[in-house]
Amino acid sequence: MRRYFQRLMCNNLLHISLQMPVSSVWSYSSSFGTRDGNLHSGLDFRGSEGANIYAAHRGTVRVVRSRANYDARRAEHRAAGIDTQESDNRLSRGVYMTVTSLDGRVVTRYAHLDSIIVESGNVGGGQRIATMGNTGRSTGPHLHFDVIIDGISRNPWEFLP
Ligand SMILES: [Zn+2]
Repeated sequence: MRRYFQRLMCNNLLHISLQMPVSSVWSYSSSFGTRDGNLHSGLDFRGSEGANIYAAHRGTVRVVRSRANYDARRAEHRAAGIDTQESDNRLSRGVYMTVTSLDGRVVTRYAHLDSIIVESGNVGGGQRIATMGNTGRSTGPHLHFDVIIDGISRNPWEFLP
């Protein structure tokens, strides 16, 4: 009860409610939380390559194109002595983008993308921004969706309809 209340307070104070980043046809393949001893920082929505992805809220877009070939790039990084968790996380996302709310507190991240529809600038909630792909460390077309609030990864289901 106390936890529920804290969550409610937190949500109300931030006025965060997000829209679904995928449309009606999707299956949900991985949840937020610990998986094989590692934190899975977001949700995975499985779908078909090229399926539309929508901004979950209003904000500013940033696109990052880490090279798509995860295994080869990891081998290069290991050879160069770059073997940090951050390098692994960054490469594993493949082509990805973020949307940052205008006050800077809410960041949503959309990973393993195929094509980018909006390269930069501001988008509205529900606007089509990219298509689903299989880039980075990915075993089939899916969207990995992160919600980061004040720098902390949160379970997206707390804010989705
Ligand atoms: Zn994932």
